[in-house]
Amino acid sequence: MQFRDLRRQYEALKPAIDSALHETVLSSAFIMGQPVKRLEEALAEYVGVKHCITCASGTDALDIALKVWKIGPGDAVFVPDFTFFASAEVVALEGAEPVFVDIDPDTFNMDASSLEAAVEAVLREGRLTPRAVIAVDLFGLPADYRAIRPLAQKYGLYLLEDAAQGFGGRLQGRRACSFGDIGATSFFPAKPLGCYGDGGAIFTDNDEWAAVADSIRVHGKGSFKYDNVRIGLNSRLDTLQAAVLLPKFDAFKRYELEQVNRCAAAYQARLADLLKTPDVPQGFFSSWAQYTVQLTDRTVRDRLQAALKEKQIPSMVYYPKPMHLQTAFQSLLPGILPCPVAERLCETVLSLPMHPYLTIEEIDEVCDVVRQTLAR
Ligand SMILES: *Cc1c(COP(=O)(O)O)cnc(C)c1O
Repeated sequence: MQFRDLRRQYEALKPAIDSALHETVLSSAFIMGQPVKRLEEALAEYVGVKHCITCASGTDALDIALKVWKIGPGDAVFVPDFTFFASAEVVALEGAEPVFVDIDPDTFNMDASSLEAAVEAVLREGRLTPRAVIAVDLFGLPADYRAIRPLAQKYGLYLLEDAAQGFGGRLQGRRACSFGDIGATSFFPAKPLGCYGDGGAIFTDNDEWAAVADSIRVHGKGSFKYDNVRIGLNSRLDTLQAAVLLPKFDAFKRYELEQVNRCAAAYQARLADLLKTPDVPQGFFSSWAQYTVQLTDRTVRDRLQAALKEKQIPSMVYYPKPMHLQTAFQSLLPGILPCPVAERLCETVLSLPMHPYLTIEEIDEVCDVVRQTLAR
């Protein structure tokens, strides 16, 4: 059994993917070929924003947003303590300071009252200027923008949506990548919509920011490539990746998103009485980048992971370390507020196999091991 079975997906989409790859090679337009433009138009329309600018990775997408807003030294950027490293890495890369915010134990996403407390603490301390908040749509579930958006407004913060895991999620009828002033996503192979390498995109309704982002991804180009008006990056999405993404996006919309939700419901029905299954609050819709359960403590979690491994069932601990304990941040952390929920979840979470091509038989197999292990 695979944790995320990309081989099965390829087998289902083989003719379309093969011909997309073949056509791109024949066209020789490897950089900024026609599929890139087609993909950007299709993604912008789906998300419901004016502009989509693809780039080389989800990390670059986040970084480009911070560059557009000129975030740098002396600035505080609020980031959940429980996320993938890149969400906070880009803040430090730009010379600003990540300020870690605790999460909600039911949704794994940034807790709005902890955000407000962190902003107030930074203001009281007076050393940094609060500039932006990066809300992460962790494991496929949009963050609670109903509570976060008003706080961003109250404190004059830019809102950056890290939807690297969130593409396809919804909140009150609106789609992920549309909740921030800028939204960022990743096409890393294992994300809800993945390509065959690295890739990413940013989304915004703001014409000026879109133009600046488009410039930044090509060495800060001005009116043409050899007129350079700002310091940028080399961060384009390869034509081959865009060509692969077009048929994959089609399958994602037609059935994959529905299928992962069917898998989540099947897990829920089999596991809800055994452990804490993930919550999807009223009004939210998840794209299930991960299916993450919570055990009572670390011993039980590790015992379950070992039992699954014995049956050749892969599982992962997302995430074993809260951001504020990452070695790379130790030198630049004044350590503003504790994040006890993130710390506890690092000890108790376990992500189970999850993807659109998972069968009910495989789900049964996983759940049987869970049941047997926890009964002991
Ligand atoms: C994967 C991920 C990223 C980075 O995306 P890459 O395409 O791997 O650079 C950023 N944030 C989160 C939450 C992620 O899961």
